[in-house]
Amino acid sequence: MPSILVLDLGGCEGCIASIMNSYPKLEKKYDLYISYLGNLNLDREFDFAIVSGPVSLVSSEKIDLLKKVRENSKILVAYGSCASVGGIFLYSKGQNCRFASIGKVVDIDYSIPGCPPASRTIINFLNCIEKKGGRFLELFKALTKYQKLSGFDLIDDVVLTGLCVGCGACTLSCPTEALQLVDGVPDLIVEKCIRCGTCIVRCPKFTQNILR
Ligand code: SF4
Ligand code: SF4
Repeated sequence: MPSILVLDLGGCEGCIASIMNSYPKLEKKYDLYISYLGNLNLDREFDFAIVSGPVSLVSSEKIDLLKKVRENSKILVAYGSCASVGGIFLYSKGQNCRFASIGKVVDIDYSIPGCPPASRTIINFLNCIEKKGGRFLELFKALTKYQKLSGFDLIDDVVLTGLCVGCGACTLSCPTEALQLVDGVPDLIVEKCIRCGTCIVRCPKFTQNILR
């Protein structure tokens, strides 16, 4: 069976909970290595490494760990907004609080933003890998290059460019209710946005646009 390492670098653990929700389906097809199962062994090779949480740029231990995981994994996935784009950790202040998305330190193969991503996302993703294609794969590959995933970017790149069709998917997906439809288009309550990017990846017009 293909092996999967699930590693949290230090987020809120919502991403791990999202993966654990799919555990009954995952364990039928994959060998899983997760700290919660007590079987984390970082000295072996993995078919997939799914990494959540941001990387601390002042922790050589975390940076070395991430580099080792990269070396030992055929496919490395940034899972969740903190790993994909830095998320709320980008707002951290103080000398010892410098965080970044993991793609700033190592090459990543796929980026799955969300706060957290829906549990079924990991199953859909792995199914696409198995079938060697599909829209999910194209999107998650394209998102490795796209680092501006906040409510501001949704407004800038979708609403103000005239792409928005007022479907409301972004407002429904926002975990902090930072978006509301006003006169048929999303309006951002700036103070509530935690820069998770969930709204953008759920926006059909945004995804259609970057996959062109
Ligand atoms: S508006 Fe909401 S969904 Fe979009 S980035 Fe901000 S918190 Fe996340
Ligand atoms: S999901 Fe996209 S198209 Fe739909 S309302 Fe939000 S910005 Fe507009």
